Amino acid sequence: MNEARVFNFSSGPAVLPLPVLEEAQRDLVALPGVGMSVLEISHRSKAFDEILASAQADMRALAGIPENYTVLFLQGGASLQFSMVPMNLLAPSKTADYIVTGDWGKKALKEAKKVGTTSVAGSTEDGHFKRIPAQDELRLTPGAAYVHMTSNNTIHGTQWHRLPDVGDAPLVCDMSSDIFSRAIDISKYGVVYAGAQKNLGPSGVTVVIVRDDLLARSADTLPTMLNYRVQAENGSRYNTPPAFGIYILGLVLKWLKGVGGLAAVQEINARKAAALYAELDRTPFWLPHADTDSRSQMNVTFRLSSEVLEQQFVKEATAAGFDGLKGHRSVGGLRASIYNAFPEEGIAALVQFMQRFEQKNG
Ligand SMILES: *Cc1c(COP(=O)(O)O)cnc(C)c1O
Repeated sequence: MNEARVFNFSSGPAVLPLPVLEEAQRDLVALPGVGMSVLEISHRSKAFDEILASAQADMRALAGIPENYTVLFLQGGASLQFSMVPMNLLAPSKTADYIVTGDWGKKALKEAKKVGTTSVAGSTEDGHFKRIPAQDELRLTPGAAYVHMTSNNTIHGTQWHRLPDVGDAPLVCDMSSDIFSRAIDISKYGVVYAGAQKNLGPSGVTVVIVRDDLLARSADTLPTMLNYRVQAENGSRYNTPPAFGIYILGLVLKWLKGVGGLAAVQEINARKAAALYAELDRTPFWLPHADTDSRSQMNVTFRLSSEVLEQQFVKEATAAGFDGLKGHRSVGGLRASIYNAFPEEGIAALVQFMQRFEQKNG
């Protein structure tokens, strides 16, 4: 552990693995064998060809991405995918289903409505997004263009622990806050997308994994930069891609391989989350937000009996070297984001801090 670093519970951009930062720092001025910074080289150079190809290959290997899927590295964040998904996949005669489990899902739906016909196939907004809906609550449209879901609700701290059964409709998943935090079967999805800045790298790169048959839906009339098929045909290099972000993403994937891959990181994440939830369940002093069976392993949300006490908690935690524990401005309370790169010892330290805080204030 680097002495100057605090425990970073930020929801995103978020903590990166220290070895990744150290390698990037070491090689920033001159990439080995290249003699120039990754920030200075052409995106069509041989050096960048290799960076891009190895990030793609590591992504495919880690997630076991089938041959008939294309991996794209785009810009505009997950939020641009809220528009690109319907623009590419939603034909005028069709309906797109949205399962709304949080504020990001609501935003995705809002953008899709501007493009075509949508239907809310399920929503847990009535219960303050404390839970994931059961299968029998879903009202799916027969022949839907696709069904959109959000696998992990960053703001509310809930997560899907099974996939909805959507029949033959392609499942489109915003995986921004839990991508590669657990083993994944890509063949269950039509499209997976994620802003990289939570679990995969820095902001500025957006990962889109799309099943190849769906590329045929992208109309030629779409703005070129927003067309999945054009991006796929050009290997994410129709224009200048976010080169530095892709480079860091590549280092994060290598780190993830070193940890042992997705099954190994899943186990570590489960252990980290369990330790934190055990503290939340230990005493009624803490008020966990999410229903037990819908709890997120990435974003742990909870409240205290008053806002004054919550503010005091954040203040004292920050002073003690725990940064970013304030909840999202839309829901308040407290939130510990514990993505892949968040170190296990930071959980133990936070639990100790929480126990001391409870002793003083409980
Ligand atoms: C952070 C987040 C977004 C927004 O990502 P941007 O890359 O900033 O657009 C969308 N969806 C989810 C689930 C998120 O956590």
